[in-house]
Amino acid sequence: MTWLEEGWRHVWLPYAQMQTAPLPLPAVRTEGSRIYLQDGRVLVDGIASWWTAVHGYNHPHIRQAVAAQLEAMPHVMFGGLGHEPAYKLATRLAALMPGSLNRVFYTDSGSVAVEVAIKMAVQARLNQGERGRTRILAFMGGYHGDTLGTMAICDPEEGMHALFAGLLPEQPVIALPRDEASIAAFELFLEQHAKELAAIIVEPLVQGAGGMVFHPPEVLRRLRAAADHYGLVLIFDEIFTGFGRTGTMFAFEQAGVVPDIVTLSKALTGGTCPLAVTIATDELFAAFLSGSPATALMHGPTFMANPLGCAAANAGLDLFESEPRLAQAAAISGQLARELEPCRELPGVRDVRVLGAVGVVELEAIENPAALRMRLVEQGVWIRPFRNILYLTPALTISAEELSVLTGAMFKVLSGA
Ligand SMILES: *Cc1c(COP(=O)(O)O)cnc(C)c1O
Repeated sequence: MTWLEEGWRHVWLPYAQMQTAPLPLPAVRTEGSRIYLQDGRVLVDGIASWWTAVHGYNHPHIRQAVAAQLEAMPHVMFGGLGHEPAYKLATRLAALMPGSLNRVFYTDSGSVAVEVAIKMAVQARLNQGERGRTRILAFMGGYHGDTLGTMAICDPEEGMHALFAGLLPEQPVIALPRDEASIAAFELFLEQHAKELAAIIVEPLVQGAGGMVFHPPEVLRRLRAAADHYGLVLIFDEIFTGFGRTGTMFAFEQAGVVPDIVTLSKALTGGTCPLAVTIATDELFAAFLSGSPATALMHGPTFMANPLGCAAANAGLDLFESEPRLAQAAAISGQLARELEPCRELPGVRDVRVLGAVGVVELEAIENPAALRMRLVEQGVWIRPFRNILYLTPALTISAEELSVLTGAMFKVLSGA
């Protein structure tokens, strides 16, 4: 019996009906945009492991940085002890951020980074002596994580969390203000409920896990104006969009607005180690300063600011400086637009859309995602259909030839050829 078959009796997969889930493909090695399977097959990777491997797998610069850190100090607690990788990374992230987004809180996953953002927004008001602002306004189609606090701000219908109604804190989730009717509903909601709110949270430009749905930059400007008007903290969850995915280093740059809190994870370590950050403005941070321990932010994951993750993230930032990632994203964008466009004519295709290095083919429905996935594997590509979409979020280092293999396989499989 292989390790896969033996372990299959003990492993519990994400988002999977285990009674019918097919055995996963055994992967033994990665390099660039390739995944090597145990049986010798090699797949071109279209998703970069949930959008994390932005520099391609096993980039030598990141590998060396992590190896050196592993030699020196794989981990040390962050309470009371400081280490250069984390302090340097905080300085570099603050320098990348506009305005006074200068304060970096480390966690180990995107969901927890969002939890921390919520706690920051709510506690800032409490610290300032204002009670009753405990709610977070979120938007339909949004996704912010799988922990209890973040499930409450995901789309309640679309989301993977509808079952938990009753267990979750109640949070308002309304339509993004993007047309006349939804703008009016948004304005009315704020007039009636702004006093209960601590913050507004949104994934800027692309709602990723909710189905890769795009919205124009004006939406973000409207949210900024509303947050200013009602004195609310504006949180941009850039866990999917950050680090070049939408064509700019961060999606909010395209709207010319600056949020009060930014959450980052996914591509932060280039897909090497789990690490996340919640970055807050100086003004928000100041609400936690006093002579009393009671106003301190009460959060601290055991593996906070893990030095291996911070070393990987610093190396990733080096690569954004030394290699032309944003130019690569622009080239990918053009190629995706050209090569996915023919899919629009295929039966069952509802929409084809591209923003930055995100390419989406939306179908009427996907009856059997597992079977579709296997047909794509037969074409030599790793693309994971979900909901009613097939999407590509490749490494920004992917070659034009490899990208054509991905788009070609998608066209071929969707055309039933
Ligand atoms: C993936 C994702 C999260 C959750 O991150 P995890 O590391 O999976 O907890 C939160 N927000 C957005 C926008 C994401 O894409």
